[in-house]
Amino acid sequence: MLQLKSPREIETMAEGGAILARTHIEMRRAIRPGISTAELDRLAEEFIRSHAGATPSFKGLYGFPATICASVNEEIVHGIPSSRRVLREGDIISVDIGVFYGGLHTDSAWTYAVGETDAETRHLMDVTESSLYAGIEQARVGNHVGDIGAAVEARVRRGGLVVVRDLVGHGVGHSMHEEPQVPNHGKPRRGPRLAAGLTIAIEPMVNVGTAETRTLSDKWTVVTADGKRSAHFEHTVAVTEHGPRILTKVA
Ligand code: MG
Ligand code: MG
Repeated sequence: MLQLKSPREIETMAEGGAILARTHIEMRRAIRPGISTAELDRLAEEFIRSHAGATPSFKGLYGFPATICASVNEEIVHGIPSSRRVLREGDIISVDIGVFYGGLHTDSAWTYAVGETDAETRHLMDVTESSLYAGIEQARVGNHVGDIGAAVEARVRRGGLVVVRDLVGHGVGHSMHEEPQVPNHGKPRRGPRLAAGLTIAIEPMVNVGTAETRTLSDKWTVVTADGKRSAHFEHTVAVTEHGPRILTKVA
């Protein structure tokens, strides 16, 4: 059963999502060579909690120890912030953040360059971000989940890159992870039908090399099997009668 949200619940998610979007703006400002991922985590937690009623969604979720997932270079998702992980010029870092506000979760990830990065990496980031918007464009009443994945994957392939298949987007709201799963590949007109009030996290994870992944011994960090770089862009989106509405942006 897909959980549909009322217009009022969607407004609440947009309020939480705006806090999340401003947290990303704080991250963008803070990311520079020499800063550790633990310091970014501290900034994000402080910023979220400075808003009355807002708390980090990820801290404690399935036992995750931090506010942000901080995944550097070949790390795809679920990197654990650490004071020993210091960013260097040319790195990229994917910051994934969840905010719980008014009883509802929102979820958004963004990949940032640390200073100047190389052309291959910039291409990876550009293609991944544009594949997110290609997916969002399909989040319309009457379309199917497969339309989203097909659009994401087509954009990524056109860029000569590959989507990660082991990890998927998801419904989000009362829980961080709800039905349906939203893969970054698929066939048009296949999968659950999208209805007004559905709120989903669309989140392409895209690799330069192989799509294969492995999980590090910390049991969290998922990396590319070949050690090449990966990018991750994610918005929480409401399917509405007026088309897709991005909830994780500054209102
Ligand atoms: Mg996320
Ligand atoms: Mg997500």
